Amino acid sequence: MNQLSTAWDTTVTVVGLGPMGRAMAAAYLDAGYGVTVWNRSAGKDTDLVARGARRAGSTAEAVAASRLTVLSLIDVEAMYTALGDTDLGGRVLANLSSDVPDKAREAARWAEARGASYLTGGVNVPPAGIGREGSSAFVSGPAEVYEEHRATLDVLAATDYRGADPGYAQLYYQLNMILFWTAYTGWYQALAVARANGLTAADVLPYAGYTADAMRGFYEHSAPRIDGGEHDGTDQRLAMCAASVEHILRTAADSGVDTGILAAHADLYRRGVAAGFGADSSSRLIQLLDTKE
Ligand code: NAP
Repeated sequence: MNQLSTAWDTTVTVVGLGPMGRAMAAAYLDAGYGVTVWNRSAGKDTDLVARGARRAGSTAEAVAASRLTVLSLIDVEAMYTALGDTDLGGRVLANLSSDVPDKAREAARWAEARGASYLTGGVNVPPAGIGREGSSAFVSGPAEVYEEHRATLDVLAATDYRGADPGYAQLYYQLNMILFWTAYTGWYQALAVARANGLTAADVLPYAGYTADAMRGFYEHSAPRIDGGEHDGTDQRLAMCAASVEHILRTAADSGVDTGILAAHADLYRRGVAAGFGADSSSRLIQLLDTKE
C-alpha cells in the first residue's frame, strides 16, 4: 500500500473504532500519518493512542484536526448522530460504512449542505485485510475529491472508483455482499446438516473450498450469456436444478434441521418451472426475481 509522499496530506481522522475503524487507524499509523481518532464509547482507542494517535474529545475536534475524516460506523444513520451539528466547512468526509445506495446519496447531500465534500465507500475485506496487498474498496463521489484523497484512501485498500454518483460505491458493495452473505449463510446451513449427521466443519471444509473456487467458473461462463439474453438449457436445465434443490431441502428436513432458507430457495425454482422455463437455463430465474419485469 502507498506510503506517505507529500507533506500537506499527512494527517487523517478516523471516526468509529469498531474492529474496522481500529484497523484503519492502525494502517495509517503504520504508514506514518498523523492520526486523530474519535469513538462514541470510551476504551476502544487505547492501543492506538499508545502508538501515537491523538484522541479527540469531541467530533468537532476530530473533524477539525484533518482535512480528511474517514468514517467507519455501523451505518450512515450513525454519522448523523456522531457528527450532529459539527462544523464541516471545507472538510472532506469519506464514509466507508456499509449502507444502502439511497442512504449514501442522502448523506452526500447532508454533508454538502454543511460545506463538506463527501465520498462514500465499501470495503471488500475484513479488518485483518486493511493495509494489505490484494485488498480493495469501492469509492464514489466527486472525481476531483477522489483524486485529491486517493493516495490516503489507498493506504487502507486499493480503491476502485465507481463514478460521481455517491450511491454507486454502495451499490457495487451491496452486490458483492449479496454474493457474500448468501454464500456464508449457505456455509452455515451445510454445517447444520453436517453436524446433524455427525460431521464436523473440518470434514466439510475441503469440499466447500472446491465449490467456492468453482463458483468463479460459473460466473464467468454465465455472465456473457445472461448479458446477451441467452438462456439456453442444453447443459443445465432449470427442471434439473429444481429437482436438485428439492434434494437439498429434503436432506435438511430428514436431518431435522431448519429448512426455512432452503424452502424459500425451492419455492423460487418451483416457480421457474411453473412459469414454463423448465427446459431453459436456471438463469431464467433472474426474470422472476426482477419483479419489475
Ligand atoms: P462495529 O463493530 O459494529 O462498530 C461500529 C462502530 O460504529 C463503533 O465504533 C460504534 O461505536 C459506532 N456506532 C454505532 N452506532 C453509532 C452511533 N449511533 N453513533 C456513533 N457511533 C456509532 O463495526 P465494524 O466491524 O467496525 O465495521 C464498521 C463498518 O465497516 C460497517 O459498516 C461494516 O459493515 C463495514 N465492514 C466491516 C467488515 C468487518 O468484517 N468487520 C468488513 C467490511 C466492511 P461504539 O463503539 O460506541 O459502539
